[in-house]
Amino acid sequence: MIHTLTLAELSAKLAAREVSAVEVTQAYLDRISAHDGEVGAFLTVASESALQDASRAQERLDRGEGGALTGIPIAFKDNISTDGIETTCASKILKGYIPPYDATVVERLKAQDAVVIGKTNLDEFAMGASTETSAYQLTRNPWDLTRTPGGSSGGSTAAVTARLVPVAIGSDTGGSIRQPASLCGIVGFKPTYGRCSRYGLVAFGSSLDQIGPLAQTVEDAAILSEAITGHDFRDSTSLPHPAISTSELKNGSLKGLRLALPKEMLGEGTQPGVRAVFESALENLRREGVIIDEVSIPSIALGVTTYYIIAPAEASSNLGRFDGVRFGPRSEGKGHIGVVERTRADGFGHEVKSRIMIGTYALSAGYYDAYYVRAQQVRALMVQEFNRVYQGYDFVVSPTSPVTAFRLGDLDGDPLAMKLLDFCTIPANMGGMPGISINAGFSEGLPVGLQLLGAPLRDEALLQSAFAAEKALGLATAPPNFA
Ligand code: GLN
Repeated sequence: MIHTLTLAELSAKLAAREVSAVEVTQAYLDRISAHDGEVGAFLTVASESALQDASRAQERLDRGEGGALTGIPIAFKDNISTDGIETTCASKILKGYIPPYDATVVERLKAQDAVVIGKTNLDEFAMGASTETSAYQLTRNPWDLTRTPGGSSGGSTAAVTARLVPVAIGSDTGGSIRQPASLCGIVGFKPTYGRCSRYGLVAFGSSLDQIGPLAQTVEDAAILSEAITGHDFRDSTSLPHPAISTSELKNGSLKGLRLALPKEMLGEGTQPGVRAVFESALENLRREGVIIDEVSIPSIALGVTTYYIIAPAEASSNLGRFDGVRFGPRSEGKGHIGVVERTRADGFGHEVKSRIMIGTYALSAGYYDAYYVRAQQVRALMVQEFNRVYQGYDFVVSPTSPVTAFRLGDLDGDPLAMKLLDFCTIPANMGGMPGISINAGFSEGLPVGLQLLGAPLRDEALLQSAFAAEKALGLATAPPNFA
C-alpha cells in the first residue's frame, strides 16, 4: 500500500521502478478524495497539475535521473506562494488570489521533481494554535475527529498524520510546526532562522517566521530540510550557509548526550498525562546513556507575553499591504480610505484584527518604549540565558506542548488560555534556534510530543540526536482509522 510508506521508502521504490510517479500521485489523490471530507486538511487539491508534475518526474526516473524527492507528492501550507495555485492564508482577504510566482521552497522542491499536490488549511495568517481561526473550514485531528490537530499548520500536519500525503511543508512563528506535530504524533522541524528562505512565505512576524517540514519520521524531515534550505539572495535574512546536510544523520549516538530540562517548561500548566509520558520518555533516554539535568531559564516565564508584543507588532506592519488594491477581493466604500477600511473590516477575521490592533498600539508613539523596546530587551535576555545553557549542554529538552489535543471549540472562546499554551515553543523563535518535536508516547490515546532545541546553526546535530532518540522511543503508528 503506497500510503503506508515513508518518504524515504517511497523514494527507494520510485528509483527501483517498483511503482511509477503517476501511480503514487494518483494513490494520494484517491486517498484525499476518500478521507479529506472527514479531516478537512486541504483548501485546494491541485489534481491536474499534480498529475502533470508526476508524469514529468516519471520521465526523469525513466532516464535513470532524479533524486530523493523525484515523484514525491508534497502539500504546502496555504501561506506559501504557489505559482498559478490559489494562496489564501485561510483568510477571506486573499480569496481568489493566485500568486504569479513560487516561494523559494516551492521552486526548489519543483526543481527536484517533487509534486505539488495541494494547499493546506491553517489559522488565518498563521495566527492561532488550533487551525480554528481559518475563515474556511475546521481541520480535525486524525486520532480523534472531535479534536484539534493543533495549529497553525494544522492542515499540513493532519494531512501527513492521516497519510493523505507522505510529507508536507508548514511554517513556525511561535510553534506552528512543532505544536501540531506534537498533537498529532508526527515529526515537525523548525530550522535555524535564516536557513530556509522566507521568500514567498506570506509574512506574519518576519523576525520569527521560519518554514520547515512535517513528516512521519526524523529521516523524512531531514531529507526535506536538505531540499529546502540553503542561501537565497531573495531573502535578505537568509544565512550564507549551505543547505542542511543529511550525510551524518544516522551516525549519532545517545551515549553521553547532555540535555538540559528547564523547570519553567514543565510547570503547573503541564497536564499530568503529558508529564507522565514525558518523564517515562526521559527514563528511556537515560537508559541509552543520555545525561539529563534540570536547569532554570527564568525568562521562559516571560516568553508568551513578550511574543505577544513582538509578533503582533510585526504583523500589524506586514498586514498593512492587504488594502483591497493589490491582492484579493475589494469591498465598496467611500473614497480610497473608505474602500481600504471596508475591505479590511470585511476581509480579516477576529483574531487577525485583534493582533493588528495590539501591534499598532505597541508600536504607537508614547507606547513604543514601554512595550516594543521592552519586549526586545526581554528577547535579548532570553537569548543570553539560553546561550549560557548551551555552553554546558547539547540541547534543551521539554514537552512540546503542555497539553494533548483539545476538543474543537473548547478554547475557541478563550484566546488567552490558548496563547498561554505556547510557552515551550516560543523561545526557539525568539532566539532563532532550531527546534524539533518527535513523538514521546500517548496519554489516553492522544499523542504527546518531546521537543529538542539547539543553539542556532546546530540543525544537523539536532536532527542527528532526534533520529537516535526516535529510535529509542519508537515511532508512533498511523491512527487506526487512517492506517
Ligand atoms: N500559536 C502562536 C500564535 O498564535 C504561534 C503561531 C505560529 O507559529 N504561526 O501566534
